[in-house]
Amino acid sequence: AKRAGRSTFADYDASLNQMERTRRDLELDMRTAITEGQFRLVYQPQINLRTGAWAGKEALVRWEHPTRGAILPGEFIDIAEETGLIIPLGEWIIRQAIHEAVTWEEPHRIAINLSPIQMRNPNLVGVLTSAIINAQIDPQRVEIEITESALMQDSESNVEMLHRLRELGVRIALDDFGTGYSSLNYLRAFPFDKIKIDRCFVSEMLDRSDCQAIVRNVVMLARALGMETTAEGVETQEQYDWLKRHGCTEAQGYYISRPLESSRASEPSRDPSQW
Ligand code: C2E
Ligand code: CA
Ligand code: CA
Ligand code: CA
Repeated sequence: AKRAGRSTFADYDASLNQMERTRRDLELDMRTAITEGQFRLVYQPQINLRTGAWAGKEALVRWEHPTRGAILPGEFIDIAEETGLIIPLGEWIIRQAIHEAVTWEEPHRIAINLSPIQMRNPNLVGVLTSAIINAQIDPQRVEIEITESALMQDSESNVEMLHRLRELGVRIALDDFGTGYSSLNYLRAFPFDKIKIDRCFVSEMLDRSDCQAIVRNVVMLARALGMETTAEGVETQEQYDWLKRHGCTEAQGYYISRPLESSRASEPSRDPSQW
């Protein structure tokens, strides 16, 4: 009879192999998915807490896989990054997001996530420039979101890239703030337009005094530095009201709206306090 220890290890081994296979399959499929139009973007509104109007929308990528169905970015972005496919995919995302944003009824800002790999691509400035010129969009309507981890890797040339992007006239937001290391150094390294406070603080801020202290002080710090703040992952009216009372600039999350199809994203803004 097999010993339990061995069979456990064999199971573990088999599931590792299964993961490896899935990964390789996804990588192969991704190579054709862009040209076959399997990716699409959804847009999540960001509401101005002072006025209650939608201020911008964040583009979030979705993969409509022909056999696996809808796949969320958490399952394929890191594969795209490891294989370099994030470069053509990211280029498609930039063009598509800007292209769709100019069809919206209201000229809301369009926020686009950039991977650290894209930041190291010397073509990035050219891609953004041509997308902006082709769509004839005001560059101030375009907001680039980069994460702390993007800055952590090779921060000097990344900060240089941020300055080149800024010269195009686009806005720059620091995403997932508070989840990386030595966050405060990044605030000194570049004058961001906006800090996005990570969902992990926002979702716990009414139950945990430490999270609440962090959110309150990030809002104050940002204001002192002349930066706006967006709270991510706002799911309840209590969180919304607290953020509004404490001077956070914008909120984003299921309480305001789930991510929407582009056609629905052009609908007029709704203030949740008026529902
Ligand atoms: P992120 O940039 O922090 O985006 C916010 C994520 O939180 C989105 O997940 C959004 O659907 C989800 N979310 C929004 N509001 C709520 C809420 O109230 N509660 C909860 N529980 N979740 C909420 P999504 O679309 O699955 O994206 C996950 C991550 O994948 C993003 O995190 C971003 O890092 C990455 N990603 C998404 N789209 C792109 C893209 O176009 N390019 C790149 N490079 N990365 C992307
Ligand atoms: Ca983001
Ligand atoms: Ca985020
Ligand atoms: Ca996040």
